[in-house]
Amino acid sequence: MAGACSPTRRVVIALHRRITVLRLTRTFALAATAAAALCIGAAIPASAATPTADDADVPSYQEFAASTYRDVDGSYIVNGDEVISTQGELKKFYDFMLNGPDTSTDGLIVNTVNGADDKWSASQVSNLTYCVSTKFGSRHADVVSAMASGAALWESASSKINFVYVGSADGNCTTRNKSIVFSVEPVQTSQYIARAFFPSTPDRQQNVLIDDSIWSSGSWTPTNILGHELGHVLGFRHEHTRPESGTCFEDSNWRPLTPYDSSSIMHYPQCNGTSDDLSMTSADRAGVVALYGN
Ligand SMILES: [Zn+2]
Repeated sequence: MAGACSPTRRVVIALHRRITVLRLTRTFALAATAAAALCIGAAIPASAATPTADDADVPSYQEFAASTYRDVDGSYIVNGDEVISTQGELKKFYDFMLNGPDTSTDGLIVNTVNGADDKWSASQVSNLTYCVSTKFGSRHADVVSAMASGAALWESASSKINFVYVGSADGNCTTRNKSIVFSVEPVQTSQYIARAFFPSTPDRQQNVLIDDSIWSSGSWTPTNILGHELGHVLGFRHEHTRPESGTCFEDSNWRPLTPYDSSSIMHYPQCNGTSDDLSMTSADRAGVVALYGN
């Protein structure tokens, strides 16, 4: 029996909420208001995440998959700006939402995997090489600059972290280029401003995709937007999935590094956040030190 407060009931609500959000996101994005553009990933008005009376109707996997946004490369986007590579992994994600973690397999969209931190090794995090595709055209230099300043937010907090721009790879800047850890490429989408990946994401999905709306996102500067995305690259989850936010729950597959921070660069402002510019906080700086060292 799934009572109102049972874990099963809660995950069903969470799953259904996510589908509702994804659908609303699509509608919301099509409305193309200025406010909608001020969002990384899903544009989620807080009220949109409120479960409705039909939450007891559990969607089939097929319904769930059909309602999940697919990126230009065929990958699935969940939680606003996080990537899932294949149907098999999406099925695992669906099963996790319904049944909780399967301890025999790794999750891929989370910053803990079987309870272990999803992070880079010390040598990897000291040399996170990337290129910036020449396909950005007239915006190429702007992207190079914003990536450097976004990376510097984390690099200035921990001496262990070093993002390394490899300009010689810009003409062949894709996930197939094995000379760099990840590529930074343009995308055209109304679904998000930018999206990234986690350390455990397969190599073929390790890219940061940036839509042109990054240049017209109001108080969210390109530096802070890319700082948020590079936070995912380092393994950080959305801060608003923590219960203290009271909304925008994603899942519980994470480990806290600091007390809850409603102003975190990883907290969507529209999810009961207390900062409207995605700037980095002292708690963010403490968190990255807690994970990677000073
Ligand atoms: Zn994000």
